[in-house]
Amino acid sequence: MNRNVILFLLCTALLFACFGCNLPRNQRFERIYYDVFDTVTKLSGYAESESAFGEQADKVYAQLHAYHVLFDIYHDAPSGTNLKAINDAAGGDPIAVDPQIIDLLLFAKEVDEQTNHRVNVTLGAVTKLWHDAREAALADPEHAVLPDAQLLREAARHTGFDKLELDESAGTVRLTDPLARLDVGAIAKGYVAQKVSEQLPDGYLLSLGGNVVAKGTKPGGSAWTIGIQNPDEPSALLHTIRAENLAIVTSGDYQRVFTINGISYHHIIDPDTLTPAMRWRAVTVLCEDSAVADMLSTALFLMDYETGSSLAKRYGADALWIAPGGTEYRTDGFGAYQKN
Ligand code: AMP
Ligand code: MG
Repeated sequence: MNRNVILFLLCTALLFACFGCNLPRNQRFERIYYDVFDTVTKLSGYAESESAFGEQADKVYAQLHAYHVLFDIYHDAPSGTNLKAINDAAGGDPIAVDPQIIDLLLFAKEVDEQTNHRVNVTLGAVTKLWHDAREAALADPEHAVLPDAQLLREAARHTGFDKLELDESAGTVRLTDPLARLDVGAIAKGYVAQKVSEQLPDGYLLSLGGNVVAKGTKPGGSAWTIGIQNPDEPSALLHTIRAENLAIVTSGDYQRVFTINGISYHHIIDPDTLTPAMRWRAVTVLCEDSAVADMLSTALFLMDYETGSSLAKRYGADALWIAPGGTEYRTDGFGAYQKN
């Protein structure tokens, strides 16, 4: 390298260093919300100022809240219709709904088909019995009881996509069976996290009840670090993941639990046995799209390793399965994301 070239490189480096001094330093900010999707939502991000972050956070909250109202099955929407209105109108006339509801239910239909009916949002009549048993058990643990097996079998007769009429062009939905119910708990948070994160700039991290989406990298190019919980001790981490433009979602048997005589009953229901699935302790899915990651985490929780890994492959996703006893299984690509 001759002297002129060295001089030129030195000057360029100095010039960049000087401009760097004057660049606004991005700071990290955080907001936590407790009133959407019955869970804790955390938005973290790097911005030039607190007010710039606040503007972004307000937009995110407004979107989350609007989706929360639309996809709520427990409370009426203050105006317009929502999923509860569809459930309430079961067996009656088709009702006009927001296009976002149609979009979610079309995705749910694809999920039902792709998972061989393992993840099925029309299982609402069954999951409601488990939801009610859990709520009663948490309110009065001494008198906790399981849902009645006969009632579960009866409820299962009122499930299936053949009972859901979706009319895209009319923008209407109808449950044809008066006792059928929708429960979108297995897919909605991931779907919403995906939609909301699409509006976010790089340098933001959204966690909607554990449905995590990392947008871009942190300033400077380093990846986000996301922990995978130990199912036996959810405050401890089993692994950490390097995340850049990545969604990470876990389904686990330690979430939404109630206990009877020392036995825990969780919230992911096997459609064959109509009871909580016992094959895995937890399944974590990594992929670009958070809606897909959410549906896959529930699906893989309900499938054997072979069926689950071929489904994950079909969607270009990676996964980690934790079996009872702690044995881990993973897709070939999972290790590339691991930090530890
Ligand atoms: P996730 O935490 O994403 O795995 O979803 C679990 C939630 O999905 C539960 O709390 C129920 O609301 C709902 N759910 C449970 N079992 C099923 C199932 N087999 N198919 C569809 N939704 C389900
Ligand atoms: Mg899910």
